[in-house]
Amino acid sequence: MKAVVIHAARDLRVEEREPETPGRGQVEVAIEAGGICGSDLHYFNHGGFGTVRIREPMILGHEIAGTIKAIGAGVSKFSVGDRVAVSPSRPCNICDYCQQGLQNHCLNMRFYGSAMPMPHIQGAFRQRLVAEAWQCHGIDDGISINEAAFAEPFAVTLHAVARAGSLLGKRVLVTGCGPIGALTIIAARVHGAREIVATDVMDAVLKKAEQVGADRTINVADNAEQLAGYAANKGYFDVQFEASGNERAIRAGLEVLKPRGVLVQLGLGGDVSIPQNTVVAKEIEVRGTFRFHEEFGLAVDLINRRAVDFKPLLTGCFGLADVQTAFELAGDRSRSMKVQLTF
Ligand code: ZN
Repeated sequence: MKAVVIHAARDLRVEEREPETPGRGQVEVAIEAGGICGSDLHYFNHGGFGTVRIREPMILGHEIAGTIKAIGAGVSKFSVGDRVAVSPSRPCNICDYCQQGLQNHCLNMRFYGSAMPMPHIQGAFRQRLVAEAWQCHGIDDGISINEAAFAEPFAVTLHAVARAGSLLGKRVLVTGCGPIGALTIIAARVHGAREIVATDVMDAVLKKAEQVGADRTINVADNAEQLAGYAANKGYFDVQFEASGNERAIRAGLEVLKPRGVLVQLGLGGDVSIPQNTVVAKEIEVRGTFRFHEEFGLAVDLINRRAVDFKPLLTGCFGLADVQTAFELAGDRSRSMKVQLTF
């Protein structure tokens, strides 16, 4: 089988790997769609992010869906031919955090396509993947495999919404409208947000934000004063989802969050400085959000019930022969939102 392997920054290869056989409790999935994520792009463009570096060849990919081709012993939930979205979250279920239901903090997490531990955890951009049956969630007839491959990034945003607390009737600001920001708009909308304003510095992505449900979009490169207008009377928004990792977006959001507002930080921009006095005086709560676990099942359920529509966010699909083109396009915000591979 073929797999998409990163060796170093800008050194991405399609290589042969030996397929595995499903053991007890496992299934073999023919991967048919794989979304290219920001972390895949970090490995591709920079060889890693922060202190995480590629130290050995690693198969990329963790936003995946496909069709079951073989079933291991003891699996009754699926049949050959079933289509599934596969969760890349593989906690140990034994450590203290797993025992507390905090699987996204598992001490022994084996999340696909991660260079954090050594040896690296190999990813899922491959023609065949052997996964545990419990990682797999059935896709209904009529749902495309490309929509199913959105379950993973959507689960990230559902976890962010869970971190924010109830959004019912709340006014929400989303800063940064790449794929995660756009999916956050969808997640906030299905959780009862009353009004959603989205900001970015590019009109192309703001147009997508409108298509997926933002009530108003503001290009803060050209019209920062439109956002600043919400600062009157100590602010307007109950919750900010910060998906850009940009210091200016965090600062602008703190100005327009109401007292006791919640800033949920999704984007990773490295070290930034924030105005302590604003956080203190307005009693702002800053909350991080990291990956997901149980939200993956909810993501698939919402997709199956057609409660969400990701089609405006799918820029294109590329076969393995065009993997380089796909990664270049995925990294160009002016031309793309979500780019997927086909296998
Ligand atoms: Zn664990």
